Amino acid sequence: MADSSLLADASIRLETALKYVNISEDAIERLQYPKASVTVSIPLRLDDGSLKIFRGYRVRYDDTRGPGKGGVRYHPNVSLDEVESLAFWMTFKCALMNLPYGGAKGGITLNPKALSKHELERLSRGYISAIADFIGTDVDILAPDMYTNATVMGWMMDQYSIIQRRITPGVVTGKPISMGGSQGRETATSVGAFQVINTLLPKFDQSPERTTVAVQGFGNVGAMLAQLLSQVGYRVVAVSDSQGGIYAPQGLDIPSIRRYKMSSRSLQAVYCESSVCNIVEHEVISNAELLNLKVDVLIPAALEKQITVENADQIQAKYIFEVANGPITSDADSILEKQGIRVFPDILVNAGGVTVSYFEWVQNRSGLYWTSEEVNQSLKERMTVETEKTWSIAQEFGVSMRTAAYIHALNRLGEAMDAKGTRDYFQSSQ
Ligand code: GLU
Repeated sequence: MADSSLLADASIRLETALKYVNISEDAIERLQYPKASVTVSIPLRLDDGSLKIFRGYRVRYDDTRGPGKGGVRYHPNVSLDEVESLAFWMTFKCALMNLPYGGAKGGITLNPKALSKHELERLSRGYISAIADFIGTDVDILAPDMYTNATVMGWMMDQYSIIQRRITPGVVTGKPISMGGSQGRETATSVGAFQVINTLLPKFDQSPERTTVAVQGFGNVGAMLAQLLSQVGYRVVAVSDSQGGIYAPQGLDIPSIRRYKMSSRSLQAVYCESSVCNIVEHEVISNAELLNLKVDVLIPAALEKQITVENADQIQAKYIFEVANGPITSDADSILEKQGIRVFPDILVNAGGVTVSYFEWVQNRSGLYWTSEEVNQSLKERMTVETEKTWSIAQEFGVSMRTAAYIHALNRLGEAMDAKGTRDYFQSSQ
């Protein structure tokens, strides 16, 4: 494992937490490596008739607590290292939320905006054909991630069902409702993060009315979360997407920005070429400037590695809720901690998505479908229970919420691994 890799950086968090848990050396050793990784070449016939080969990955990091579980990312930066570290995070996220899953992840290296919808469909089906022997309802279950959505999940489930010659909705979650998807899955990550924020901020006497928020990433998750927060009185003062951001100290009108963003696909374009510019005075800012704003709450909801040693000392927020996976590098963590900034980790904050994926899989297997009230109620309960448990561990050991989350997950993972037998078990005389 190269030291500069994302996975090496991710596993530093594991080392910090290991001091506080009592698990066998066997379990620790196993958790350092992904269980299995496949790399596939996917041929795609482009609309112009030419052939292009794309590189795809699926990594099952661990399946001790249940089948692998995790999304599929379409992005130009997708690499095996990135997919392995995302699969590592899924392993800890599922254990933290007490879902009966291991962790997995997949991805294709591509620029999704450069392909037509038909090309994307053929590529998604090609990906499933290439990895079909590696996945399954009881083996490894797919879901959406960056630049994939319910439509893509529908194609994937359909392709897998064609290969298996039976309808197998449980192999993919995050599907369209009409194909066995769950109510509430599309908003689940935002609703889960909202619940974590509302559970934790009162512990610091931080009420919504006195709280300013900046959100980096105005995709499905970031935009919906910004809306939920502004609805209950938080002042969302800045949002950004890959093109850049906007800042208005008096607060932004999130519902109208969401509407314009959906129609024009870019914040700057919508903001400055439409009437929204007239609704509220705002400043155009870069993504980097957004991170450095003096706000109470900063929400990175875009890519990994946004806060690093390069910019950690410029962060002025009091609380950071990681809605993206891995937005803060491990060396930036200690700089933030020294500045007294509280970081709430990705594996807890963004776990709402996989939690409702679990509910979807349960519904697919039982054939009995839940109402959106039932889904949201169960989601809120589970998020609150695991957030409170993580908070108690942080208090008990005097550690950060990130270390507490890893301790909590490691205890569950270690117990499951040790139940399969350790060296002590085999050496015992009985
Ligand atoms: N891609 C999401 C995540 O990183 C959801 C995964 C899932 O639903 O399996 O948590």
